Amino acid sequence: MTDHKTNTEGLAASVIVLLDLDNNIFQSERKCPEGDITPVAYKTSGEACGFMTPQQQTFFNWLSATSLVIPNTARDSATFRRAHLPFNSYSICSFGGVILQPDGNVEQAWHQLIAAEAASAKELLEEIHTKLLHIASVRDFDIRARLVEDQGLTLYISVKHNNHLNHELVDLGQAVQEYLPNDWTVHFNDNNLAIFPQFLGKEKASSWLLKNRINRAKETVIIGSGDSFTDVAFMAQCHFALMPAKSQIFSGVEQLAANPNSDYISD
Ligand SMILES: [Mg+2]
Repeated sequence: MTDHKTNTEGLAASVIVLLDLDNNIFQSERKCPEGDITPVAYKTSGEACGFMTPQQQTFFNWLSATSLVIPNTARDSATFRRAHLPFNSYSICSFGGVILQPDGNVEQAWHQLIAAEAASAKELLEEIHTKLLHIASVRDFDIRARLVEDQGLTLYISVKHNNHLNHELVDLGQAVQEYLPNDWTVHFNDNNLAIFPQFLGKEKASSWLLKNRINRAKETVIIGSGDSFTDVAFMAQCHFALMPAKSQIFSGVEQLAANPNSDYISD
C-alpha cells in the first residue's frame, strides 16, 4: 500500500505547496492576457473554461517537479475533477468542505466532521438563500444564486451577476449581512459573492490535513499560494506566501504600500 503521507521517493516531502487553482494557476479566457494559452479546465459540456499562460505552465511544472502539491480550491469535487492537471496527493475542494484522498475517494474522517456542522447550518443557509433572492428581486439585480452542495453536503451560497455588475453584488452582500450570524463571512472577488457558514474555510481543511495526514520532517517548508482574500487565512498558516502579482491579495498590499498615511512599520 502506498504511503500517501510521503512523496514518491517514500520520504517526507521537504517542500509542500498548498495551491489555490482559479485565477492563480489558470483562469477564464476573458481574464487571460494576449498570447498563447493552453486549456486545462472544462465545463460538463466539454467546452474549455480554464486556461494557462506559458508562465503559469512553467510555474506549475516547477512546483510539481520539486514539491508535494496539494490543491486547495473553491471548486466542488466534480468541478475540480474537470481541471485536468496531474495532481497526486490529497486535494481540498469546496472551500474546505471536502477533502479527496490521492486515489480520488472522499476522506471520510474529515467528511464526518463537516457533515455534522453542515447539517446544523442547512436550514439557515436555505433561509438566507431565499432572503437573498428576494432582496435581489426587489432591487432588480440580475443575479444567479445557488446553494453549493458537494458530496451530499450543503456548504455555502454562491452568487454571480449575469452582467458582471460587481457593485450590485457588493450591495447585495451588504444587505444580507444583517441576517447572518456574526461568525459567518461574506466574500467578494470580481464577479463572485460567497456566503460562508462558520465551519467552512480552506484554512480549516488544510490545517486538519497537515496535522493528520501529511508526513513532515522538521525542516519541511510549507508554501501557501493563492490570489484571493479567501486564501489569506490558509496562506498565513504557511512559512511562505506566494501570490500572482495581479491578484486581489497583491492589489490590497500595493494599496497599503502606496498609502502615504500608513503608519504600519515593519522591517
Ligand atoms: Mg483563486
